[in-house]
Amino acid sequence: MTINGKSVEAPQGATVLEAARACGLEIPTMCFREGCRPFSSCMVCVVKDVKRDLLIPACTAPALENMVVETDTGEVRDARRTALELLVSEHVGDCEGPCHRICPAHMNIPLMIRQIAAGRLDDAIATVKRDIALPAVLGRICPAPCEKGCRRGAHDSPVSICLLKRFAADADLARTDGYTPEIAPATGRKAAIIGAGPAGLAAAWHLIRAGISCTVFDRGGQPGGALRTGPGRERLPHAVIDAEVDLIRALGVEFRMETEVGADISFSEIRSGFDAVVVATGEIEEGEEEVFGLPVSRRGLETARPALATTCPGVFAAGAVVAPTRMAVRALADGKSAALSVKQFLAGEPVTGEVLPFNSRIDRLGEGEMEEFMKGASGTGRVEPASPGSGFTAREAVREARRCLHCDCRKIDSCLLRRWAQNYGVNRDRYRGETRGAFERVTEHPFVIYEPGKCIRCGLCVQITGRAAEPLGLTFIGRGFNVRIGAPLGAPLEEALKETARDCVEACPTGALAFKDERRPA
Ligand code: SF4
Ligand code: SF4
Ligand code: SF4
Repeated sequence: MTINGKSVEAPQGATVLEAARACGLEIPTMCFREGCRPFSSCMVCVVKDVKRDLLIPACTAPALENMVVETDTGEVRDARRTALELLVSEHVGDCEGPCHRICPAHMNIPLMIRQIAAGRLDDAIATVKRDIALPAVLGRICPAPCEKGCRRGAHDSPVSICLLKRFAADADLARTDGYTPEIAPATGRKAAIIGAGPAGLAAAWHLIRAGISCTVFDRGGQPGGALRTGPGRERLPHAVIDAEVDLIRALGVEFRMETEVGADISFSEIRSGFDAVVVATGEIEEGEEEVFGLPVSRRGLETARPALATTCPGVFAAGAVVAPTRMAVRALADGKSAALSVKQFLAGEPVTGEVLPFNSRIDRLGEGEMEEFMKGASGTGRVEPASPGSGFTAREAVREARRCLHCDCRKIDSCLLRRWAQNYGVNRDRYRGETRGAFERVTEHPFVIYEPGKCIRCGLCVQITGRAAEPLGLTFIGRGFNVRIGAPLGAPLEEALKETARDCVEACPTGALAFKDERRPA
């Protein structure tokens, strides 16, 4: 047969999917799983049978002699996108929690909160520091835009996300063997960062972790920039800034303080001495028309978002020099984005900065849905620290963490619907109807969560429980649009998934069946 113009031999009885994969071609699938009977229900694997002028599901179509197949034409991609958009149109779930989506630094807040609730502070600080370089600083001064979007706010009051982050960060600072991130192997490339304020410090934190050596230049005596002058020592003691800067220094970032670029060292020396530059010099003064020869527009240095690239190749900008902001978290988020752009630039990849991933969203809750979200959450009001100046105690932090509704999906990193929706540029609103199914969450199983609104009815869990001869297993219940997966006779999920819970969760292509904890249970 011929696939994408290439002559291919496939064994008798092979499917088009098997033939294509055998020659290294990627065809997306969702309801297909090696070792299970193909169901061809999701139609994400369609390919073109050129001679018959038909789109066919590759997972069930037999590979036939002299067949001519195309797997990646515009028509095929459009058909796959439509199949995905139809699945997304009836999907009921948030990929990222509302707080995670709103956080300028895009931190996985619900995951941090679960880790704090479970007393796993090492994991919590690792989650925080993946995106936020100065969490103890922010824990004291951030106006917490994430809390304004917190779903719990519609029930009583938002979860105290900012203080929980501060708790994790302070607990880590109090240890002598605090968190050290994994550092990628040295790339041999060097970046200069001009400005040791929040944006510059964040850029350094993210770059050094990517194996790019960093030198930070600043005319001041101490790193911290506006953090030392803006919030006041009472709110933000300088010892906290120093402690978090020391952690960045300990990773190998070099600080050249009292070194003014343009006076003590020229910008062109910096450009010729380093492979990339991040300009993070803070808010520009009125009337300034250029910074280091780079053009300034109405608000700040001219850059293209989200890559934060200036008009000069290899020079990026971050923080208040791009647009004035009083929010340190925005400066930190910019530093992270600029670091990603530098990394892409140095690797010779397209420079995109942080591209927001596909997110299925519930948006406004319907009747009865808050009750579903409240399942398993503590019903008490927002916990206030007994001594406000010193943040939460361990007991208070756990009590507050238990108020979180865990709006996020536990499979954001492995869900195939999300992966293909992102890959095929799915518009989640294309086929969205007036009404959607209600959000529902089944939590009684000791370690599995079942959210029926995320089920694509692929039948894999039904096959797996059937093959393993689970006494009850899972089955299709109902007919037509209302068909759903469940235990027969209304039995509880733990009765249906006695032996096969782990296998079913791993086979489920979406977050319909997921582990409560992000780690696979033993
Ligand atoms: S199942 Fe997939 S698409 Fe749905 S909310 Fe979860 S991660 Fe997003
Ligand atoms: S309830 Fe928890 S997961 Fe939901 S928005 Fe608030 S902090 Fe985020
Ligand atoms: S719950 Fe079962 S039928 Fe539904 S998507 Fe997951 S594996 Fe498929």
